[in-house]
Amino acid sequence: MHLSRFPRRRYTAGPTPIHALPNLTKDIGGANLFIKRDDLLGGAGGGNKTRKLEFLVADALAQGADTLITCGAVQSNHCRLTLSAACTEGLKCQLVLEERVAKSYDEDASGNNFLYRLMGVEKINVVPGGTDLGAAMVETAAALAAQGRKGYIIPGGGSNSLGALGYVACAEEMLAQSFEMGLRIDHVVVASGSGGTHAGILAGIHGNNAQIPVTGVSVRHPQARQEASIAALAASVCDRLGIAAPIPAGEVRVADAYVGEGYSLPTDSMAEAVQTFARREGILLDPVYTGKAAAGLLDLARTGHFAAGENVLFVHTGGAPSLYHYRADVLRSV
Ligand SMILES: *Cc1c(COP(=O)(O)O)cnc(C)c1O
Repeated sequence: MHLSRFPRRRYTAGPTPIHALPNLTKDIGGANLFIKRDDLLGGAGGGNKTRKLEFLVADALAQGADTLITCGAVQSNHCRLTLSAACTEGLKCQLVLEERVAKSYDEDASGNNFLYRLMGVEKINVVPGGTDLGAAMVETAAALAAQGRKGYIIPGGGSNSLGALGYVACAEEMLAQSFEMGLRIDHVVVASGSGGTHAGILAGIHGNNAQIPVTGVSVRHPQARQEASIAALAASVCDRLGIAAPIPAGEVRVADAYVGEGYSLPTDSMAEAVQTFARREGILLDPVYTGKAAAGLLDLARTGHFAAGENVLFVHTGGAPSLYHYRADVLRSV
């Protein structure tokens, strides 16, 4: 692959660390657990969207945009990091926020909501759950055009084939690190939401013929729907990269048992995972994504899904700034 053909801005100084999780490994017994610290990426508060935005914002700048337009849920990490990138680049930023849970938007809420205001978001348009967010962003761009301005629309989660290149780059980074460290990675576990992260990692591993299984832990959709969308997105990433061999269907793996009642709604296993990572490893997860993904990791490890002695790498995709909004959900006793 030849990623340097694609224009890219840089928002992180170097690779994010990979390190062992010795206490969790000891507690569980069996597989050896490791973590890739993408919570330590650049951008205000860090997290996975920063890697996607490196490619998306480079494209926005190449097109002469003055405003980034994107969408997400009311506590969206992606919206926070898009706004942060806009601040860095001297661009404006307008957000469309979807109330996936009715009446969940509160202007005075903490977490990412607070950060939208702190970083000076130009405009927030709150829309009901189920709204066509693409159409809402096109309207936002049209309103800007009417004022002689130029918006650049970034899809939810930054998950198109351009944004997903950020996670192709991450896959290459992980492979290089694992070689340097002498660490044979046998399995990767990552949260699977809008899908750019999961699909990008899959395409990167496939393009390098590294043959490492990747399990995406769904945070929203049922397995069949999520696997179909990951397969489609990964295929379009492969197209963009000129990877001819298709990804075999069996390599798209989604576990959907950790979603609970729905996106962003708390579960006991999420709270247990957030508490366990904090107390045993001093690592902050978030309740919406990494808490549910880690619940999947812990359950799969405890139930013998990975063989004893296998090295399992959990990709920490960030999200901790939202913890301050969801205090009761993560402190609940489990
Ligand atoms: C967006 C997000 C994810 C999911 O990544 P996708 O590429 O949307 O699947 C995981 N973790 C955190 C913290 C996120 O903000």
